[in-house]
Amino acid sequence: MSKKRVAIIGAGPSGTAQLRAFQSAAEKGAEIPEIVCFEKQDDWGGLWNYTWRTGLDEYGEPVHCSMYRYLWSNGPKEGLEFADYTFEEHFGKQIASYPPREVLRDYILGRVEKAGVRDWVRFRHPVRWVTYKEDTGTFHVTAEDLKAQKVYTEEFDHVICASGHFSTPNVPHFEGLNGFNGRVLHAHDFRDALEFKDKDILIIGTSYSAEDIGSQCWKYGCKSVTVSFRTAPMGFKWPDNWEEVPLLTKVEGNTCTFKDGSQKRVDAIILCTGYLHHFPFMDEPLKLRTANRLATADLYKGVVWNANPKLFYLGMQDQWFTFNMFDAQAWWVRDAILGRIEIPSDRAVLDGDVERRVAEEDASDDPIGYQGDYVRELIAETDYPSFDVDGACAAFYEWKKHKKENIMGFRNNSYRSVMTGSMAPKHHTPWVDALDDSMEAYLRA
Ligand SMILES: Cc1cc2nc3c(=O)[nH]c(=O)nc-3n(C[C@H](O)[C@H](O)[C@H](O)COP(=O)(O)OP(=O)(O)OC[C@H]3O[C@@H](n4cnc5c(N)ncnc54)[C@H](O)[C@@H]3O)c2cc1C
Repeated sequence: MSKKRVAIIGAGPSGTAQLRAFQSAAEKGAEIPEIVCFEKQDDWGGLWNYTWRTGLDEYGEPVHCSMYRYLWSNGPKEGLEFADYTFEEHFGKQIASYPPREVLRDYILGRVEKAGVRDWVRFRHPVRWVTYKEDTGTFHVTAEDLKAQKVYTEEFDHVICASGHFSTPNVPHFEGLNGFNGRVLHAHDFRDALEFKDKDILIIGTSYSAEDIGSQCWKYGCKSVTVSFRTAPMGFKWPDNWEEVPLLTKVEGNTCTFKDGSQKRVDAIILCTGYLHHFPFMDEPLKLRTANRLATADLYKGVVWNANPKLFYLGMQDQWFTFNMFDAQAWWVRDAILGRIEIPSDRAVLDGDVERRVAEEDASDDPIGYQGDYVRELIAETDYPSFDVDGACAAFYEWKKHKKENIMGFRNNSYRSVMTGSMAPKHHTPWVDALDDSMEAYLRA
């Protein structure tokens, strides 16, 4: 009998978690399928790969990157640590709690480099089309080898879509934007806060991007930050040159008018208006359509495509937990594919699971605890090293408290690793003064 074949789409934190999950089973002697991971970038790491480019890349592909220079983790690393590869193992010591992008990227990649699975990835191979053939019971995956300029199709028994959902901008319409006499951009195209030094900026939205891009611009010397909210302000204790105003209703020249009639003259408008789950390469019966929420639509256990349980989606939830949640999902999906976990054959059971999760999320006033329970549930069904999920939740609760106390200072706090029990050291420089975000500067004792 020929070996099963599994296609993974994307080699970001979710896709690489899946690679590691299969490799860890192989390491313990299991027979694993042939794994082919298609990645459209020229390296693994997903959003954690930085590029100055916006729009299209050198091959004419949409740039995946939504990250920017000076980005530091927006939550404590103690909430996202891998249970099978700790920060101490990677860096040879415990490090401070809010690492910059380059440091986290190094950590994520350290684990898969150690696992030796780079050969499983076909870089610069964007997936163009995935369809399911009822007669053979297999997926046809069409990809393009960008370097060889060749489009080809291969057959797989399973597809795992890990292409991320923070890369395709959601761009609402605002009256007068076309006539704005300044720069307008979506958060996806924001790269360097220094561009906005000495400028009055308007940020639309109250997401993490709004909070963090505003904070970056403030840190690197913009003149003022105005944040326009749709329903409610973020409500942190902002610096003096920062204000929150109701929704933008009109733009005339450089003047912005808000719902309460107030006006502000600004030099730049940054739309922090979120992202779309966007899978243009999926045939309609396979395409996930969901809001960005903790209980996604149509995915049993948050990962199995109900309409065709041979297809899986990873990392499609809104995220408090990230890397270790992707691990929990990847280990679970691996075990479903290896036949260690049985997926119910009755569609009503799959749909019932989703309905229950949606209702529970709607009824919950504790999204962190809710997602913590989800991570715990998946881990309990696999051999992923169990860890103190409540301890990780506690780090998130502390983080929220620290943000309330001091939004420009919360990154100066330290937390205890739930994996090793050791306390993170305090970083050598307060975040507002740490202008160099390089790994070298961060790791300096
Ligand atoms: C600005 C920003 C800041 C963030 N900050 C943090 C943070 O501080 N801490 C944290 O834990 N999380 C943060 N996140 C959340 C982030 O979603 C996760 O950390 C993580 O990157 C998600 O991993 P992923 O693999 O699911 O998706 P991604 O990282 O998006 O990776 C998806 C991969 O799929 C590839 N791909 C896409 N389409 C195709 C295709 N058709 N064919 C082949 N390959 C394809 C992409 O090139 C990419 O490599 C942040 C997100 C953003 C946008």
